[in-house]
Amino acid sequence: VQKEKAKSDVCVFSADMRKSQLREQELKEGLALALQNREFHLVYQPVIDNQTNEVSFCEVLIRWELDGVLIPPQEFIPIAEQYGFIHEIGEWVLMKACVESSNWIFDDKVDISVNVSVPQLLRNDFVDIVKAALVNSGFPATSLHLEITESVFANNADVMFARIAELQSLGIKVSVDDFGTGFSSLSQLQKMSADIVKIDRSFIASMDEGGQAIIQATQYMAKQLGYSVVAEGVETKEQADELSDIGVNCSQGYYFSYPMTIDELSQWYEDFKQGKLNDPL
Ligand code: C2E
Ligand code: MG
Ligand code: MG
Ligand code: MG
Repeated sequence: VQKEKAKSDVCVFSADMRKSQLREQELKEGLALALQNREFHLVYQPVIDNQTNEVSFCEVLIRWELDGVLIPPQEFIPIAEQYGFIHEIGEWVLMKACVESSNWIFDDKVDISVNVSVPQLLRNDFVDIVKAALVNSGFPATSLHLEITESVFANNADVMFARIAELQSLGIKVSVDDFGTGFSSLSQLQKMSADIVKIDRSFIASMDEGGQAIIQATQYMAKQLGYSVVAEGVETKEQADELSDIGVNCSQGYYFSYPMTIDELSQWYEDFKQGKLNDPL
């Protein structure tokens, strides 16, 4: 019986593997055509300054609609990275975000924050690509943030630190995304000298079960190093109030707003400025 069970486990496992291989193949083929088929669009999520209650910046998030179904970025971004599509896609995201935002945000001085994958940052022409997006759109470098996950520290740390410094010299702000989940250490934060730390939403979700200690420690350390701190995944008023009490600079999450298209964002922003959204939920 033991033997039979072991055998059937093996079969289930390989069937799952086969399934995920097929899925990967399907997404890989889809990604090769997605740009030319115009299947991507961008959504924007406001990040609120806890002290002034104003919009500090908006995070830009990619959406892929394949045959009428939205594929989550968590699923396709890793595949795009693995097969090299991320470079073209990332360039498109930068350009599109700068152009769309120039049309409305520009006057209000709300920054936008674009996610960048590690392979993009590793390419020698990355800074040129960013510069081209800025020049071609007329979007100001000083209103652009780039978000980089803390896995940048895993390899090529020195190349990464140099590139980050180069971007900052243009006036761009650099954020460390998903802080607390990966390889980063406090000393690496000091070495890379970025501008913003985004605390991963898992710590906000677990604020009552120990997450608060991590948030407080990160907040304390970030302040010493001159970083500003953003909490991700804020879903309730209680979380928002507590984060504000801790001294976290900004909060982002469904409590304030879901990610929206640029047109929805414009409308939301008008309502927000008129104080119509004081109690978002
Ligand atoms: P991220 O950069 O950490 O982005 C935040 C994610 O949390 C987004 O998921 C957002 O929709 C979600 N979120 C925001 N508020 C809440 C909340 O209150 N509760 C919960 N449960 N979730 C919340 P999304 O859009 O699915 O993106 C997932 C990840 O995919 C991003 O995580 C980022 O790593 C990556 N990604 C998204 N767009 C791009 C892109 O244009 N380029 C690259 N390289 N990566 C991207
Ligand atoms: Mg991000
Ligand atoms: Mg994040
Ligand atoms: Mg995250």
